[in-house]
Amino acid sequence: MVITLVRRAAAVCVLATALAACATTRPAQQQAPRPAPSAPPSPSPPPTLAPGPSGLTPVFRNGPRTGDRTVALTFDADMTADQGPRAAAGEHFDHPRLIATLRALKVPATVFMTGRWAEEYPDQARSIGRDPLFEVANHSYSHYAFTGDCYGLPTVSADRMRTDVERAYAVFREVGVPDPKPYFRFPGGCYDRTALKELTPAGVTAVQWDVVGGDAFATDAEAVAQQVLEGVRPGSVVVLHCTRSAAPTTERAVRRIVPELRRQGYSFVKVSELIAAANGRAERPTLEP
Ligand SMILES: [Zn+2]
Repeated sequence: MVITLVRRAAAVCVLATALAACATTRPAQQQAPRPAPSAPPSPSPPPTLAPGPSGLTPVFRNGPRTGDRTVALTFDADMTADQGPRAAAGEHFDHPRLIATLRALKVPATVFMTGRWAEEYPDQARSIGRDPLFEVANHSYSHYAFTGDCYGLPTVSADRMRTDVERAYAVFREVGVPDPKPYFRFPGGCYDRTALKELTPAGVTAVQWDVVGGDAFATDAEAVAQQVLEGVRPGSVVVLHCTRSAAPTTERAVRRIVPELRRQGYSFVKVSELIAAANGRAERPTLEP
């Protein structure tokens, strides 16, 4: 199956996070290149976490628990490298109505897209990528696992991990996504120290989550909504899916989740804004003086 059982993945992530001693949140300002004095002002680069111990790829799980009531909805646009025949046979791995609902409700969101998904749906990938309401992040090219034993997914060998991530960025460029973010979500949320080490040269921040929507293969939108509403705290990252065939209730769940969280005083932000807040930066990037 394409979308993994994220409920179990969350438990795996907790363990993996502990083993990897990750999610450090040191300020990133030291790494930001300063423009030459004569250069015109340009927007700050997207916020990232500083590398973990031994230079390992840093792992982000949630934003600060204090301060503003912000929450980031994230949507994994899953399609696996070997699912082309299923798409050709009529299976819908996209979910345009979900994207339309997010636009209608004016909900910022981060879409973790596989390269294979962007190849199959280039117009949608470009449209999402060009809409300032959204940001596109990387969910690998193939949606193969970066560890062994990850819910039956085929596995990427260590020496091909970086290539798989960079191939997805190459597809994003080809289809016209102008500004994909340096954030990477491991397929199935499965990672270990080897995976974090192999991805160090890619310069990405790995993004996990603290709230599992449970929308994969769900048939009850209200149950998905309840699970999200019970799990959200300030700074939460919620994982949901942008794949009609495997997560058919997500759009209805979102229509229930969004007004209720707003009623509770939450505002929706993108992952980049939570990472900026974790780094102690302003949520809205400012220009260099
Ligand atoms: Zn996925």
